[in-house]
Amino acid sequence: MSSKYKILVVEDEKNIRHLIGALLEADGYQAVPARDYANGKMLYFSHRPDLVILDLGLPDGDGVDLLREIRRDSLTPVIVLSARIDESDKVEALDLGANDYVTKPFSSAELMARVRSALRTAAFHSGTEISLDGTFTLDDLVINYGARKVFIAQSEIKLTHTEYDILSYLSRCPGKVVTYNAIIKEIWGYSDSGSIKKLQVNMANIRKKLGAKPGKKNYIENELGIGYRM
Ligand code: CA
Repeated sequence: MSSKYKILVVEDEKNIRHLIGALLEADGYQAVPARDYANGKMLYFSHRPDLVILDLGLPDGDGVDLLREIRRDSLTPVIVLSARIDESDKVEALDLGANDYVTKPFSSAELMARVRSALRTAAFHSGTEISLDGTFTLDDLVINYGARKVFIAQSEIKLTHTEYDILSYLSRCPGKVVTYNAIIKEIWGYSDSGSIKKLQVNMANIRKKLGAKPGKKNYIENELGIGYRM
């Protein structure tokens, strides 16, 4: 019973809140519904959920501020719900540490897949896949942080300095969407009008070198207009 994952759902629209609650319960999770910002904050601190699904547009506050409070407290995975028109809110939320986003209207299957993936990522961080000797492993891909080397199925992939830095940065938050802005700030320290283009060129090269094929499962996914996900 207590091994059930507890998921806080902060959503002011009653129908959506009930729908998400029913989906979660059907999949064996315990849903904790919250109707607004104040309620969400209170339930977060009293229930200590394993994951938070957070609507950004709340009647008594901004979901982004609640995300800030959660991040000051913990690394609990947060999936942000937002309407398509709030693109900049979504990017801000990801930069503030949201793990993922789902755009309304969403499909039930999509939301549940994101929930499973976020919980997996959380387990991953507390798990063993970044090992003590400083290597990262994802299927056939191995990154040796100490030696700054990358291997696929034991053969070394030659990356430029910048390509390695980008890949290494993404690998430190697997499963999470990392925004263009966050990567640019990390790698170049500044951003100008050419930064996104520069990032895209580097990323195209990385993906090619990692053997990316369209329509197949790849190590790095492109979240169009937002960022990348390892
Ligand atoms: Ca709302």
